[in-house]
Amino acid sequence: MYEKINEQFASDNYSQICPEVLEKIVELNQDNAQAYGNDYYTKYAADKLRELFETDCEIFFVFNGTAANSLSLAALCNSYHSIICSEVAHIETDECGAPEFFSNGSKLLLAKTDDGKLKPEDIVHLATKRDDIHYPKPKVISITQSTELGTVYTIEELKAIKEVANKHNLLIQMDGARFANAVTSLNCTPADITWKVGVDVLCFSGTKNGMAMGEIVIFFDRKLAVDFDYRCKQAGQLASKMKFISAQWIALLENELWKRNATHANNMAKYFEEQLSFIKNIQIKFPVQSNSVFIEAPVKILEEIKKKNWIFYSFIGAGGARFVFSWNSTKERIDEFILDLKNISSLS
Ligand SMILES: *Cc1c(COP(=O)(O)O)cnc(C)c1O
Repeated sequence: MYEKINEQFASDNYSQICPEVLEKIVELNQDNAQAYGNDYYTKYAADKLRELFETDCEIFFVFNGTAANSLSLAALCNSYHSIICSEVAHIETDECGAPEFFSNGSKLLLAKTDDGKLKPEDIVHLATKRDDIHYPKPKVISITQSTELGTVYTIEELKAIKEVANKHNLLIQMDGARFANAVTSLNCTPADITWKVGVDVLCFSGTKNGMAMGEIVIFFDRKLAVDFDYRCKQAGQLASKMKFISAQWIALLENELWKRNATHANNMAKYFEEQLSFIKNIQIKFPVQSNSVFIEAPVKILEEIKKKNWIFYSFIGAGGARFVFSWNSTKERIDEFILDLKNISSLS
């Protein structure tokens, strides 16, 4: 028997593949093609991405975000370097030590944050704490856009980070697992929040935007990408049938599907936030700026609502819960959830 999961709120990677992406795979399945990314469609997808980013960047296709992050960080660091990031960064909490592993030991230096966003003073503090031979040398700032807490760095905040990066000779890597949601949230272009504000490398997720799997690593400075293809191959991230990852990107890029998917997901998060405001005992923990909503609620209420087969994560402290929205989230399901929540909270 297959287990059927109704639309839920655990993560945007629980979602189906969006129809346009699936159709593109079928469409490009009519012919054979060269393997290992030497096919026409992979070149076409990379060109389209260069157009989208309005710059002549170097692009690599990998399977997942952990690989994109850890391989890109490994490319920027030597083993004796360190990477400044937030203590809630995915590279710290959810990648099983892969960034340290692939960099042969580069250390993550963690900053406490209120809302998931690194501040210039946090970076300066960590970058200048020590300058002796006994401490790993700071080399990269890793920022997540949108952050793990659903907040979004503004262009001004990114510029301020670039300023301290310049001052302290640091490179900037961006984890863009939800990059599309940040772009639509800020109503800007992809270039506005990447190379134009000094981001050196971006990991851009297709998976959370509607693909089956696939991420890209974009080097805005081609010099930093030297031998990155070997790094991908050695790590088992060179898809032999790469065409079917590229096909999915082509679908997302056509008619700005990536933007529509992200806008929809963000709008659903906003709708959810609005509906929650009518329920007592529920607090929103962070500003809702992308496609997730974090709430604080009595533990009993969350336990009861989970018994009704609603799926969401509640890993950020007792009483906290995260709700993530996707290209296929619907108001109807949100309304059903809100109704259940209202009933439960009025009983408590
Ligand atoms: C989902 C996610 C990733 C990528 O995770 P994989 O499971 O390795 O694809 C990276 N960063 C953040 C912030 C994420 O949410």
